[in-house]
Amino acid sequence: MTERLLNFSPGPGALPLPVLEQAQRDLVSLPGVGASPLEVSHRGPWFGQVLDEAEANLRALLGVPDHHHVLFCQGGATMQFSMVPMNLLRGAEHPAAYVVTGAWGAKAAAEARRAGPVTVPWSGEADGYRRVPSREDLLAAVVDAHAYVHVTTNETIQGVQYPGEPVVPDGTTLVADASSDFLSRPTDVARFDLLYAGAQKNAGPAGVTVVLIRDELLATIPEDLPTLLDYRTFADHRSLFNTPPVFAVYVLMLVTRWLRDDVGGLIEADRRNRHKAALLYTEIDAAPGFYRGHADAAARSLMNVTWRLPSEVLERRFVEEAEGHGMIGLRGHRSVGGIRASLYNAVPTEHVETLAAFVRDFRDRNAG
Ligand code: PMP
Repeated sequence: MTERLLNFSPGPGALPLPVLEQAQRDLVSLPGVGASPLEVSHRGPWFGQVLDEAEANLRALLGVPDHHHVLFCQGGATMQFSMVPMNLLRGAEHPAAYVVTGAWGAKAAAEARRAGPVTVPWSGEADGYRRVPSREDLLAAVVDAHAYVHVTTNETIQGVQYPGEPVVPDGTTLVADASSDFLSRPTDVARFDLLYAGAQKNAGPAGVTVVLIRDELLATIPEDLPTLLDYRTFADHRSLFNTPPVFAVYVLMLVTRWLRDDVGGLIEADRRNRHKAALLYTEIDAAPGFYRGHADAAARSLMNVTWRLPSEVLERRFVEEAEGHGMIGLRGHRSVGGIRASLYNAVPTEHVETLAAFVRDFRDRNAG
């Protein structure tokens, strides 16, 4: 096998090796089918089973309530930035409230403004998106009547994450972009009326977006939406109204099977992810004059660890030397700079140990 590097990419991110190996074994011809998963009908029995298992695994892993539909959409999380307000804001009595904790939340709010009025009851922009609102702050901020409240559970670019499910006033319709921490820890899905996630971080390859939506919301959708932008089309046709991204759903099914059988569920995934993130944050905190974590301690992401070095020259050198040691994907997003290490489920603890040792060694060699 060609060498595989240590992949800390923000997304598409690392996938579990056993999943890639299974996909490789199946790629030319699926046992019992005699054709590639890239070649078979989405209406045949093989894909029917794939869809059923993908949904069943998601329901089992997350404890998705019966009154939530599991939908497989396309267009990435960005399409959801449009679909959510088209379905839930158009014609609504009140504006939508977007809690903005980073760049993705800001983009979601900007898209929603194309569909209707939007308010921003809380934003972390003024201090560079380092925080999330505390429980009290969020409850105090969301006071005016709204169609729904939208949150981003993990901000992939800034590395800012809610420590648990955001708490909003009773009766609020809560919508979440969970793209970059979906399936990384147990989640009380019942608290969310709609939760969406592009698959390409923890759940699978790019091309499929999971939407969990409470059944009662479907009744409020306007009648005149384009067919494929109406959640009811997906709910009524088991995500098979048109051709779904068959291969992406198949790999997502394998990833959820791996999470269920090999990892042992989301409690264990969370334990591993906490341990991995702590390895890095410990090194960052050990060198306060040299490394500077971006997020406030209470809002630090377990998925995307972001930090700065004393100069951009040193940041470039860090990334280049890390690449020399086989570690890729560490350059911070172009809008914020610095370093970002993404530690999704499929990133093994040993890879993070190697990175943490490099972080320490780089500091020892470069701190003045
Ligand atoms: N939301 C979040 C939190 C993300 O991390 C991303 C992608 N990195 C997006 C939305 C946009 O996703 P997509 O590229 O699938 O449209």
